[in-house]
Amino acid sequence: MELAERLAKERRGRLAAERLLEQKSRELHAANEKLALHARALSDQIVEQRQVVRSALSEAEALKGQNLRFLTDLERAHTAAVMAERRLWDSINTIRDGFAVFDSSNRLVAANRAYLAVFESEAIPPGTEYAEILDTVAESGLVDIGEHTVESWRDHMLARWEDDPIPPIVLQFSSGLWVRLVDRRARDGDMVSLAVDITEQMRIWAAIEAIPDGFVLFDREDRLMVCNQHYRALYSESAPAMVPGASFEAILRYGLEHGQYPEAIGREDDWIEERLSLRESASVDFEQAIAGGRWLRVIDKETPDGGRVGLRVDITRAREQQDALEHARETAEAAVRAKSAFLANMSHEIRTPMNGVVGMAELLCDTPLNDEQRLFADTIRSSGEALLVIINDILDYSKIEAERLTLHPEPFDLERVIHEVAMLLQPRAQAKGIDLMIDYDMFLPTRFVGDPGRLRQVLTNLAGNAVKFTEKGHVLIRVVGLEAVPGAQQLHITVEDTGIGIAAENLDHIFGEFNQVETAANRKFEGTGLGLAISRRLVEHMGGAVWVDSEPGRGSCFGFRLSLPVAESGEDHPASVSLKRALVVDDQFINRTILERQLATCGMQSALCRSAAEALSLLEQDRDFDAILVDEDMPEMGGLAFVEHARAAGVTTPVLLLSANPVQAREQDRDGHISGFLQTPILRADLYRRLQALAPLPAAPPPAPTGRRLMRVLAAEDNRTNQLVFRKMVRDLAIELIFADNGREAVELFQSFKPDLVFMDISMPEMDGRDAARAIRRLEGDQRHVPIIALTAHAMEGDEQSILAAGIDRYLTKPLRRTAICEVLARYAPEDTLPARTDLPESGAA
Ligand code: ADP
Repeated sequence: MELAERLAKERRGRLAAERLLEQKSRELHAANEKLALHARALSDQIVEQRQVVRSALSEAEALKGQNLRFLTDLERAHTAAVMAERRLWDSINTIRDGFAVFDSSNRLVAANRAYLAVFESEAIPPGTEYAEILDTVAESGLVDIGEHTVESWRDHMLARWEDDPIPPIVLQFSSGLWVRLVDRRARDGDMVSLAVDITEQMRIWAAIEAIPDGFVLFDREDRLMVCNQHYRALYSESAPAMVPGASFEAILRYGLEHGQYPEAIGREDDWIEERLSLRESASVDFEQAIAGGRWLRVIDKETPDGGRVGLRVDITRAREQQDALEHARETAEAAVRAKSAFLANMSHEIRTPMNGVVGMAELLCDTPLNDEQRLFADTIRSSGEALLVIINDILDYSKIEAERLTLHPEPFDLERVIHEVAMLLQPRAQAKGIDLMIDYDMFLPTRFVGDPGRLRQVLTNLAGNAVKFTEKGHVLIRVVGLEAVPGAQQLHITVEDTGIGIAAENLDHIFGEFNQVETAANRKFEGTGLGLAISRRLVEHMGGAVWVDSEPGRGSCFGFRLSLPVAESGEDHPASVSLKRALVVDDQFINRTILERQLATCGMQSALCRSAAEALSLLEQDRDFDAILVDEDMPEMGGLAFVEHARAAGVTTPVLLLSANPVQAREQDRDGHISGFLQTPILRADLYRRLQALAPLPAAPPPAPTGRRLMRVLAAEDNRTNQLVFRKMVRDLAIELIFADNGREAVELFQSFKPDLVFMDISMPEMDGRDAARAIRRLEGDQRHVPIIALTAHAMEGDEQSILAAGIDRYLTKPLRRTAICEVLARYAPEDTLPARTDLPESGAA
């Protein structure tokens, strides 16, 4: 048993082990299977992973390359950034304005050169505290800290940085620099500080402040931009409203409420409207009354950008002066008027007795007198005349001064006026042995519209001076003209002499009042020194101008320019004369030339000789002349002697003698060799008449003098002396004269005596000359018009007009002159009367 059992047991054990082995081997197999599967999967994975690793590796490789590039880029970028920053600072350094950055604890980070220069320190190192910088500049006196101490200024400046926003501040540096500091705190706490150089602006501003007047500038919206202190001071009531940005209207209204504009009181709304409407115009310039009794001149102008710039000038003083002047002027004018009236009255009063003095002296000179008596009488006469000239000058001058001188334009003959002036001066010229000549442009009309009286006055003064200041040689009055506009001539009238002349430094002076040249050569001449002053004012009054050219010792030439309308010609020069050829004998070149031209215009040829001897020898060969014109006054052989010689040599050609004193010449021509006497200077019309008279008689002979009657003349004059003077002056004239003692009697005599001409004194008792003239005109109705000639003492303007208004034709001023009376008689003589003057050949007859 035991064994079996053991064997059985062993067998059972073996079998169990065999079964377990089998199971285990199955399990192993399965595990092997699984393992194989795993291994496969694993190897797959490994392959896969290897793949991944490989691609990762190549990626890493690529990345590494990229990384390398990136690194170089970064490096480059860094260098560029550094460069850019340097550039930026370089640029910032070139800015004229200062620029600085401080960190949040107010330490300097960086600043440009301009900023450092402002603080006059090239070397403020970064990190320096702002306070330290401030202390340095304040202590060194670089900046003007005004009233502040260094500490208080520094604190003030630091406190500024605490404000938000930080107000700009202007600093003035001792270098003359002006800087505006503009500071801003950045978000990160940094402080950016700008120091703007405003020196230029400040200069302009200082200049604007320095203007002594108010200056203001408004922008295009009419808002105040700037104004200077003067502007505020002038409008002191409005000043509080003058803040930059305030509108013009607001400032205006503020001023209005505060009494700035006294002129607006009571009409404020209208005033504002007016003032604002002025704002519309591009520029204004007016005077304005402001508070405090002051006056401003307001000048506003639009600026190119649509704003408005204004100046206010305080003209209070000027206004006061102007007012004072105005007042003084009124007073002076009143005084001048009083003076003129006084002078007019005085002249009237002086003239009336002077009439007696001069007139009687003139008559006295015509009576037989011994030499001494003649000297006395002459002296009385010439002194009286000189006195009258002075009175006339003073009166004229005061009239011009009082601006009471009016011109009386009328048609007149300029050549005749010049001739009359020359005739008046002829005796004086002749006495001194001076030739007085007229050269009137041949192609110039003679009749113009102007004031002949005033022109005569100017000419008399200029020509009178020329004669006065010339001892030998000639005086030549020359007239030329240019047709400036159709129907008017620009006349140039010159008076040339060969006298003492005037030094250049005196040329202006002599046109002043009472001015004369004070030299030894000049002192012996009398005069008031008013003549040229009056002449100039007269010519200017007529719209012309006067000038003078002179050389001491050689002569002077006074001239004036005047534009006058040409009058419808009355009597023009005769078309032509039937004579063909004339011989002209004159020692004066100018006279020969003038005569030659005058003869040429009426179709005559002329041969010119400069002396009697030359003419006589010419006549030996050539006698084919229709007329001989010979000057009476020539050296060696005069005109009269020449004629004697010529006649003796058998020359029968008619002779016209050119003489300064034809009456005397006629007396000397005892044998009657001379066919006609021509008064020099020659009036063209006279010359033509004489030449025509030499021509063979026309078919209808002039009416024979027989059957003519005497001219009837009525003279109304209350003053017995004047009656006597008048009677004596006309005693050898062929007229019938009757006197009336007053106006009433004149009117009566007018009806009974039936005069051809009336001389009428103006101031007479009972009925004055004006009333009498009016009464006569009423009596005449539209019947024939008898000329009435007023006799006045130099009257004032108003009188003159009232005289002419009374129906008077002309007036003569006292003292009366024989020549003036004769001229009037000749002019108004009716055709059926005998010529009044028997001592002169009647014009037109030989
Ligand atoms: P009056 O002749 O009365 O002195 P005017 O005013 O006519 O006054 O002249 C002023 C001055 O001018 C004269 O005194 C003289 O000195 C100078 N004068 C005027 N005309 C001439 C002239 N033709 N030649 C030289 N001097 C002259």
